[in-house]
Amino acid sequence: MPQEELSDNSCKVSKQGVNVQPSRVKALAMTASILLRHSHPNIPNRYSCNPLVDRTSTPVEWIDFANLQASKLQQWICRRDNRRAAKAMQFLTHGYGLDPAEILKSAMFSEDYSEMVIVKDIEVYSLCEHHILPFFGKAHIAYIPNGYIVGLSKIPRIVDAFARRLQVQERLTHDILECIDKTLNPKGVAVVIEASHMCMMMRGVQKQNSIMKTSSMLGNFRSNQATRTEFLSLVTG
Ligand SMILES: [Zn+2]
Repeated sequence: MPQEELSDNSCKVSKQGVNVQPSRVKALAMTASILLRHSHPNIPNRYSCNPLVDRTSTPVEWIDFANLQASKLQQWICRRDNRRAAKAMQFLTHGYGLDPAEILKSAMFSEDYSEMVIVKDIEVYSLCEHHILPFFGKAHIAYIPNGYIVGLSKIPRIVDAFARRLQVQERLTHDILECIDKTLNPKGVAVVIEASHMCMMMRGVQKQNSIMKTSSMLGNFRSNQATRTEFLSLVTG
């Protein structure tokens, strides 16, 4: 690269084979710096550049400054976004750290009530284990006590404990059913889940209005047609 092209008096500067107007380099570097700082006001100091250039700097120094600033900002953006994504994934799968049976046991009360107890329209948010995409909808749960009832909020809590994992809807339905059956030992338990799956909505067949319904029943709900019909009419009504 000829030395005279780098002088302040030259009208062009050549770096990496590109000719750039010195005044334009300064303007671009300043604009980029101001815009990026404005977009990310919380950027830590270690990722921002001290102004290594001033009015006496050569255009090449301005280009180096702009490149350094850009690469440092890129590092910061990557690290910050990776942390944010990791934190989100941690929350979406925090059910692995919960023991649903313990959640139920923490609020079991001895009670001589043996009619059907229903908790319906419980929001479900989960991740499909095949595509790591959300599926979401509602769960309806009923049980017939057999000496014990459970605190009302514990039913939605165990739904979350199982749903906040990588799941398939069929297993989620069965997990909830089995947990209530083994922990409360009721005369019967029923779980219905209806959900929309993003892996079917935003990719694959791309159908927006289809809903998947799963149901699992044990005890009286399975053996007694009247009990099953009463449950289904109450949750779908
Ligand atoms: Zn899927």
